[in-house]
Amino acid sequence: MLHARAARTRVSTAAADTAAVRIIRGAAVPGIDETHVAQNYHPLPVVIARGEGAWVTDVEGKRYLDLLAAYSALNFGHRHPALMAAVTEQLGRLTLTSRAYHNDRLGDFAAALAQLCGKDLVLPMNTGAEAVETGIKVARAWAYRVKGVARDQAQIIVAHENFHGRTTTIVGFSDDAASRDDFGPYGPGFVAVPFGDAAAIEAAITPDTAAVLIEPIQGEAGVIVPPEGYLRAVRELCDRHDVLFVADEIQSGLGRVGTTFACDREEVVPDIYLLGKALGGGILPVSAVVADAEVLGVIGPGEHGSTFGGNPLASAVGLRVVEMLSTGEFQTRAAALGEHLAERLGALVGHGVTAVRTAGLWAGIDIDPSVGTGRDVAERMLARGVLVKETRGQTIRIAPPLVIRATELDWAIEQLTVVLEG
Ligand code: PLP
Repeated sequence: MLHARAARTRVSTAAADTAAVRIIRGAAVPGIDETHVAQNYHPLPVVIARGEGAWVTDVEGKRYLDLLAAYSALNFGHRHPALMAAVTEQLGRLTLTSRAYHNDRLGDFAAALAQLCGKDLVLPMNTGAEAVETGIKVARAWAYRVKGVARDQAQIIVAHENFHGRTTTIVGFSDDAASRDDFGPYGPGFVAVPFGDAAAIEAAITPDTAAVLIEPIQGEAGVIVPPEGYLRAVRELCDRHDVLFVADEIQSGLGRVGTTFACDREEVVPDIYLLGKALGGGILPVSAVVADAEVLGVIGPGEHGSTFGGNPLASAVGLRVVEMLSTGEFQTRAAALGEHLAERLGALVGHGVTAVRTAGLWAGIDIDPSVGTGRDVAERMLARGVLVKETRGQTIRIAPPLVIRATELDWAIEQLTVVLEG
């Protein structure tokens, strides 16, 4: 004990600011003490205390329009009444059972989600990274048990500039140095090819290829929309070579792009959907792997699991999310507002913005370096009451809650215009 304390003291004094032991003391933010929070994020200097719809309020009562929406996890906004009703009702009767027993909510949630996806089975997990890990396991098991690949030889083709989460397996096939470096050794079995290039995928396929794992639109990379026809080409290649198409729709899915899934934009159905973020309604982590029985049926009892996956509270919220998406209302809204967003943002190109990419209510805006970095823009937007966040340096990503009003969106773009004018 004494030993540990002595070591801790040494770290927090002498070695604190060396490259080897990084203790970043961010600028003091009034209203909060995060001295004991590990510094794995670089948050904007604002302390949120309340949220409703597309708006949040800080500890001093100042309101901000939330254009990040927890990286698309708040597609329905903060504390949507229908979701609050579902979670409150469930809190009053049962929250957690583990899968050691059945609970009376998981079956309904799985049935509804399977129907939304047009698939047979749902494997519930919690975070997005867990869904990706699960998808990788399912694809490998399918390769060995169905396709006949020799044990431990399965390969998965991924795309450069991907973002699929933070586990050790996943960061091993990331190109992002901050995500990857110093966290090796990395697991084998992944081959990366350029995103948007179907011919590169075909060239990388071997008899040992189990799956192609891609984001239909790359979110963290800056809302990178692949060329029209790419997803259809991937589908066709996967069919021809007996390879699973695994679509990570964790950020792109559930209404964000104006359709239920980003794959719908090309009328493509992957073999495996990986879902997360908005599936939890902005209330709690809910993720899932969704596929037909001939794929997901390869997993048997004891081969995969999670203490919290499929818990009744998560299932009640997930079921309500699926019900809300089943009306098509949010998808229609995202499509209509998305057109408006694309038009308004397009007008900024050449005025402090070098490029804009949009898909539904989702945008990557490349900031002209003469204006500053993405972070600079995010901080100036914060001062004007709008929350956005930079991604990969020079880009800011916009992913407002789908409940945002057109007038609110316009107001936010006016703030951005002022910020870009300096
Ligand atoms: N996959 C994609 C496409 C994502 O955007 C993310 C998170 O941003 C993840 C996976 C990981 O999700 P989580 O942070 O819930 O583990």
